[in-house]
Formats: sequence, structure tokens, C-alpha cells
Amino acid sequence: MRNLARRCRRRLALWALTVRDSFVLLLPLTFLGVTATLLANAPFAAVQRVLAALLGDGWRDIMDAVVNATYGVFGLALAVVVGIRLARRLGAGPSDETLPEVSVGMAALVNFMLCLTIGNAPALTGMGRDSMLLGLLVGLATPELLRPLTRIFGVKPDHDCDPTFYAAIRMTPPLVVLGIGVILGVEAAKTLPAPGVRWLAALPPTVHGWIDADWSLCTAAVVASHLLWFVGIHGNMVLEQQAQALFGAGGAAYNPVLGWHPLLGTFGMIGGAGATLGLTLALFIVAREGPFRRLAAVSVLPSLFNINELLIFGLPIALNPLFLWPFVLAPLVMTLIALTAVHAGLLPLLDVQVPWTTPPLLSGYLLTGSWRGPALQVLGLLVSTLIYLPFVRRAEARRVRAQSAAFHATVNAIATEGRPQTQSVPLHGELGLVARGLLAALTRDLGTAALTLAFQPKHDHRGVAVGVEALLRWRHARHGAVRADVAVTLAEEGGVIRALGAWVMEEACARKAQWNALGLSHITMAINVSPLQLDDPLLPALLARCLERYGLTPGEIELEITESQAIPVRQVVDQNLALIVAMGVSLAMDDFGMGYSSLLHMRRFSIHSLKIDGSLTRDVLTNPISRDIIHTIATLGRTRQVEVVAEFVETAEQRDTLAALGCGVFQGYLYSAPLPAAACAEYLLGAGAGAAASRRESGLIS
Ligand code: C2E
Ligand code: CA
Ligand code: CA
Repeated sequence: MRNLARRCRRRLALWALTVRDSFVLLLPLTFLGVTATLLANAPFAAVQRVLAALLGDGWRDIMDAVVNATYGVFGLALAVVVGIRLARRLGAGPSDETLPEVSVGMAALVNFMLCLTIGNAPALTGMGRDSMLLGLLVGLATPELLRPLTRIFGVKPDHDCDPTFYAAIRMTPPLVVLGIGVILGVEAAKTLPAPGVRWLAALPPTVHGWIDADWSLCTAAVVASHLLWFVGIHGNMVLEQQAQALFGAGGAAYNPVLGWHPLLGTFGMIGGAGATLGLTLALFIVAREGPFRRLAAVSVLPSLFNINELLIFGLPIALNPLFLWPFVLAPLVMTLIALTAVHAGLLPLLDVQVPWTTPPLLSGYLLTGSWRGPALQVLGLLVSTLIYLPFVRRAEARRVRAQSAAFHATVNAIATEGRPQTQSVPLHGELGLVARGLLAALTRDLGTAALTLAFQPKHDHRGVAVGVEALLRWRHARHGAVRADVAVTLAEEGGVIRALGAWVMEEACARKAQWNALGLSHITMAINVSPLQLDDPLLPALLARCLERYGLTPGEIELEITESQAIPVRQVVDQNLALIVAMGVSLAMDDFGMGYSSLLHMRRFSIHSLKIDGSLTRDVLTNPISRDIIHTIATLGRTRQVEVVAEFVETAEQRDTLAALGCGVFQGYLYSAPLPAAACAEYLLGAGAGAAASRRESGLIS
């Protein structure tokens, strides 16, 4: 039972996510619709004149055509997009193939049209925003139904046929079955009594008298229209159509024009339904950067004309439980404040029609003919902003959490998939978006203080520091420190590794020159290079220029080559490495023992040292096979006169075992973690190195 509840909750969350995604994906449609609505209803004669001059007398028809082509098909578009997105999110069952997305979209389209045209609703005019709810339901139901139907009725043509043909044939029977089911369902639904509001008229007179008071009428109007807005239905339009039927003709408060309409429109809905100008302000206050800030920036202009579809569908507000309360509460409080002012005789109301796109302040003035109108609107704006603030804070906190989760998922995916020996970071798909964002940030950060180098000392068997390794450090503006291997893999995949590598080389050489001036010229500087830098024909010249610029001798520099990517088998790589060795710079094979072709590289390049892979040294004390491999590598090193370096040395015991197996140089937390440049210089100058070494010798630190 609990299991079922959990599964239902998970499925509901999946639907909610799909709906939100779909609204966001439809933003271009919304954006076009908003622009056309704004222009078609521009309250200023000057704008209308410009449009007429540009587009001719029929400019309003053109705008209407755009509105029809966008909002006019919103319900249909939603059905298709929701269907496709849900099919993708549902993925495939353990023994199923995925549903082809085109088939799902097509099925959603057919089902939506069936629902519209078979019912009594006028056919094509119903494809728009008013059938948003229908679009959502059809979009969610289509893949949910299509999955089991495909399992039962899907045919399996031979696998050797054309893939498109295969998908089309496979999906035909389930699509037909689904279509027939929808027709039957709609026909059955038509026999049900139509939902109506006639019951209201049958309420006892006391209740009617109660409704007659404009307080309750206003409250009912605001709540009802906003609940409709919340599910994407044009609340005001419905209310205007229904007001007479709902409340009868008696009583001034029932008059849809004089009763609630002007108060609600002018004071309750500043910025559009939900009083969303206050929401825009709250977004500006809470979100200093990021998508909410950008959304606020693009929706501020339409909001000034009370057009807020960008917020309703972009944030989104529609069907987003987080925003239900403020969305109803803000306009309600603002309307009631205005009503109080009317009853107190503070707010004169003129019998004028103010166009709904009239900007706030101006609309307040036009409706009241007094400064009190705009003043009340300012107060309302303040109140609505305050109402929205805590909810926007929650939404932003939720967004930041989701963003950080996506960041960690991406970093983990890159760290596990991107290395070692694999070729691709997931730069596509949903994680790909985060990965591309990270890559853009890395590229932007090149040459700024966000990128630095840390230096990790290497010691010989006597504990004397003999060299350092330069390691990249990247501090992302939002996410903080990003793992070096992730940054490097991103740079490799994103094509900026040469630029990054050049910066690392320059920075390491500059540091080395500074340290030489302090008397540390005997310390070698190891620089990690990616295999993708090795086939850059300019690499030897770059290195030579660095040496010359900083007055270094080639023997002070070592290049560590890792197989994060396969080392390209190209002549230029071999030429480069030969040139570099001929210059006198030494080469180290990093992570030796784990790469597919580590041993072959020894034959191919002239290697000065082997760095045994950390995963081997890590369990040297516990794993006899690791010990044997290390011993073999050390023997190979001795016969080839190649220095053998052990990294990841964390305890004195590990160091002693590694030394006994034949390793000559040690690097790891036993001596020091990678240090910032200044701290490393201090360490090398004696205090740190000597103290740490002697403490470790005496077994004080493990
Ligand atoms: P690597 O070259 O094998 O570097 C050793 C990594 O192990 C470093 O991680 C270092 O901080 C960490 N480490 C050092 N001692 C210990 C220890 O005792 N225990 C443990 N558990 N870890 C230790 P880091 O700095 O995160 O670098 C990761 C990898 O990123 C490097 O592996 C290297 O392949 C790559 N990388 C770093 N900087 C650069 C760079 O400037 N260029 C290129 N191409 N690659 C770089
Ligand atoms: Ca290294
Ligand atoms: Ca390594």
C-alpha cells in the first residue's frame, strides 16, 4: 500500500515536472502572443499610428492573426509538447522499447482534435488557451495510455527494415486502438449532464442577499476568476459571460460593469491577473541573477500594460502549487483595499471604461479623476509585492537547490564518464545543458583570478623535496571549487584545452622563476598536459617561449602526460615529444599502469619518469596484486633507468612499503596536500618541508 502511494507520488511529481517543462518550452509561442497582444491593444494613439503607417490599415488584423497563431493553438500545442516530454521522461520499461516521440506527439494531436471536434464545442476555435486544461490532460494521458497499448498491440516488424518504417508500423495498431477509445470516451461523456452553474440561482434568498453585498461579490469574483486563471482559463472572460447568469440581474453590485469589474481591473490586477506587477518587483528583489531575474526583466514591459502571460506560463504560475496562494491573495487584498476606500468615501469612481491595457497610475487616474487612484495603486503594488516576496524566496531557494543538484549530477557524470579513456562528456541532453554552462563559465574565467594553480611537493626517499606538480584550481562564481579533472575534461571536450594548457604553462613557469629567485632552482616544476595538447604543432614553440621569457633551463620543467584521452597516434605528437625531449625538458607518464597502452607509450616516447597510478598505491598495503604490479613497474623503471614516482602516498607505512618495492620519489598527503603558490614556496624553503618530514619520520602524523 505504502509502495503504491509512493509510486503515485512519484508519478504525480513527474507529471508536474513535465507540465512545467512544457510551459517553458512553449515560451517562444507565449512571447510572440504577448508581443502581438501588446501591440494590438496598445493604449497609446501614437503607437497605433506608427503601426498603421508600418503595416497599413489592416495592422490590427495582422496582430490578431499572430495572436490566433500563437494563443489560438496553445491548447493543441500543449497537448503535443506535454505528450512528447512525458514520453521522454517515462523512458522505456525494463523490457520495452521507448515510444517514438513523433508518434506520441501525433497521437496527442489526434486525440486533442477528436476531443474537440466530436464534442459540441465549436471545432477549430477551441484549440487555444481556453482548452489548455484539455491540452494538458490529453498530453499526459496519451503516452500513459500508449505505453501499455504498445505493449499489447504493438507489432514487431523485422529488425532489418528501415528504422523509420519500423517505428511507424510498430505504432500503428496502438494508435488506432487509442483513437477508437477516445472516440468512445467522448461519445460517452456527451451523454453526461453538462456542468452548469444554475444551482446558484436555486440558493435560498438569505444566501442570495449575502452574495448581493459587494464585499462577498468582489471576493467571489476575484477568487473564482483567479482559480480559473490558475488552471490557464481566461478567468475574467468566463466571469463576464457568467456574471448575469450567476447572480441574476438585480442589484447594482451584480452589474458586471459597475460592480466588481472596474475595481478588480484597475486596483486588483495591476500587472494582469494575480497582480503580477508586484510579483515582478518581488522577483527583482529576490533574484539578483539567474533565470528568475531574466524573466522579471523581460516581463516588466508587458506587465506595465497588464499582460503577464510570460510570468503565468514562464515562471510558471499556472498549475504551480507554490504560487496559488499569493496569486489569489494579492489581487483579493488589493481589491478589498480599494473597496474599503470606496465605502469610506475616499475613492471616487467615475463611470468610464478604462482600456485593460492602460498602465497602472494612469488607469487609476482615469477611473477616479483624482490623485487618490494612483496613490491607492502604489499602495496596492507595495502590498502585492510583500505578499509575493516569501513565495518568490521559496521558489528561488528551490531553484538554487535544483541547480546545485544538477551541477553535482553533471560533475559526477563528467568525473565518472569523462575519465579515464572515454571520449565524451555528456554535452548533450539535460546534464549537457549544465555542462555547456560550466564550459562557458570556464572559458570566461580563463585569465581571471577564478583560475589558479596549486602546487604539490614531491620528495625523494630521504624526505628531501625535489619537485612540485602544478595542479589547476577553478573557483566557479556560483558553485565554488570545481574538481580539476572535471575542469580539464570540460576543456578537452569543449575545445579550449589548448588555451587552458597554455595558461597553465605560462603561470607555472612564472611561478618557477619567482621561486628560483628565492633559491629554489633545484626544485623541478611538473606541468600536466592533456593528450589533446600534444598534437598541437605549436606546443614545442610555446614551451620554448615560456622557458625563454622566464629565464628557465629546460631541466627545471617536466611535462606529465595522462591518458585522460587516448594519446593521438599522429606523427605530429611524436615529433612534438621528440622536440620537447631534445630541448631538455623531461616527460613523465602519469597514472601509469591503468591506461590501456601505458606500456606501449614507453616504447613510443622517451620517458624520464613513471608515476604509478594512485589507485595502485592506495591499496598497496592491503592488495598483493597491486603490490606485484608496483614491483613490476619499479623493476621496469630500474632496467630502463626511468625514475619511478608513487603518488597518493598518505601514510608512512605506505611510503616504506612503496620504497621497498622500488619507488624512488613520493608525493601525497603524507607530505603535503597541493598548496597555494606562496604557501608552497614557504614549505619548500624549509620550515614546512623539514618540520613535516621529521614529524612524519617520527610517526606523529599518518
Ligand atoms: P593527477 O595529475 O594524477 O593529480 C593527482 C591528483 O591527486 C590531484 O587531484 C591531487 O590533488 C590528488 N592527490 C594528491 N595527493 C593525494 C593523496 O595523497 N591522496 C589523494 N586521495 N589524492 C591526492 P586534482 O588536483 O584534483 O587533479 C586531478 C587531475 O586533474 C590530475 O590528476 C590531472 O590529471 C588533472 N589536472 C590537474 N591540473 C591539470 C592541469 O593543469 N592540466 C591538465 N591537463 N590536467 C590537470
Ligand atoms: Ca599529474
Ligand atoms: Ca596521477
